[in-house]
Amino acid sequence: MSVVTRFAPSPTGFLHIGGARTALFNFLFARHHGGKYLLRIEDTDRERSTDLAIAAIHEGLNWLDLAGDDEPVYQFSRMERHAQIAHELLEKGLAYRCYLSAEELGQMREEARKLGHPIRSPWRDKPVSAAPDAPFVVRLRMPETGATTISDAVQGDVTVQHQQLDDLIMLRSDGTPTYMLAVVVDDHDMGVSHVIRGDDHLNNAFRQQKIIAAMDWPQPIYAHIPLIHGSDGAKLSKRHGALSVMEYQSMGFLPEAVNNYLLRLGWSHGDDEVISRVDAISWFDLGAIGKSPARFDMDKLTAINSHYLSTASDDTIIKLITDAPLTPEMETRLRLLAPAIKERAQLVSDLPLMADFALSTTSPEIAEDAKPILDADMLSRLTAFAEAYSQHQGDFHNRDQEAIKAWLNEWLEEQGMKMRDLGPGLRVALTGKKQAPDIVLILAVLGPHEVKTRIETVCNN
Ligand code: GLU
Repeated sequence: MSVVTRFAPSPTGFLHIGGARTALFNFLFARHHGGKYLLRIEDTDRERSTDLAIAAIHEGLNWLDLAGDDEPVYQFSRMERHAQIAHELLEKGLAYRCYLSAEELGQMREEARKLGHPIRSPWRDKPVSAAPDAPFVVRLRMPETGATTISDAVQGDVTVQHQQLDDLIMLRSDGTPTYMLAVVVDDHDMGVSHVIRGDDHLNNAFRQQKIIAAMDWPQPIYAHIPLIHGSDGAKLSKRHGALSVMEYQSMGFLPEAVNNYLLRLGWSHGDDEVISRVDAISWFDLGAIGKSPARFDMDKLTAINSHYLSTASDDTIIKLITDAPLTPEMETRLRLLAPAIKERAQLVSDLPLMADFALSTTSPEIAEDAKPILDADMLSRLTAFAEAYSQHQGDFHNRDQEAIKAWLNEWLEEQGMKMRDLGPGLRVALTGKKQAPDIVLILAVLGPHEVKTRIETVCNN
């Protein structure tokens, strides 16, 4: 059997982080088996399915590199095909027209609820000749006795008694197909072999199976994955943090890190935390998906993000710092700086902040909390440093950190100073901040000319 999976989001505003995980699992499973991963936009709710919401789904999937293999299927455009199947089942006598009015239905529902069984429409057993000339819905004839067991690849064997299943509606009284019918027909027509989705759809699976059986189509394999929970164990909601995938981009997460984190959220491979996409494809299986809901942990996501930043290429880091065209001088500075700052950054947004002293060619503004470091003693040490440095600056044009370090250590020793006597002040004078990279790196990054002018600016003010 060739593997075909699908991700079937309802476009309701943005790509949900839980939906992204479902997409990822479908993608990985298909790739693992050399199969296909398809996208179906379930846009039958005409009020909520706006173009904007559909674009948001595509944007999120593209960002995560999880776009479908073929052109997406738009469910609404397939309405006629859905209805055709309902009519086919009517003709076969496996479905029936139900003429219950809303009022009658309400009463029946009430009674059925009291008795604890699903409603059975009296129209199920009435002859067609009894049908009035009135609006009707089309219902599937559910078996009344027995039970169905689904061998879910994640949940294991789950059994439902047929008495619990009502005669589901496939066509509404206006002739439009219901969600339950549309999903089944689309999955069949798209050749879907494995339905991997949130476990909030497990109950639907029993009903959907009955439509599939009535059509005598092959049943797909189901894998219902537990929904993601927040840190407090409740179902993930707004109060736990961002739900939209694109918000994670704005917060400074890399798509690789989000993918890696989502993979680990409910699926495991030994103790592996950092898993490349290549490894994920070769390792992914449904058996290792946990049965209980995983908790979303922002600190873990941040740690993984920090890992991906530290292993990104310098070119990538430079692009993340700024997308403006670079002068040769800026290029030199950022190339020197990139290896050091990618080690310390947690979020993409940390990078431009860590590099801002190098991005400007004017003296930095001194942060309030850094000002006390520049006391009179420090200023006189800085003046002495600037003088000595300017005599040697010609040697430092190549920005050789080893040479700068050797000279600096020698000079400090001559002066009877330790690095701590000068370093903090030098760092503030050159970057405006208390926390910044290594002082030798700062000297190399800024180059001799600007080191001198920045110190002079501080000392003369
Ligand atoms: N459109 C459904 C949802 O967004 C998914 C249906 C399915 O996967 O079968 O929850």
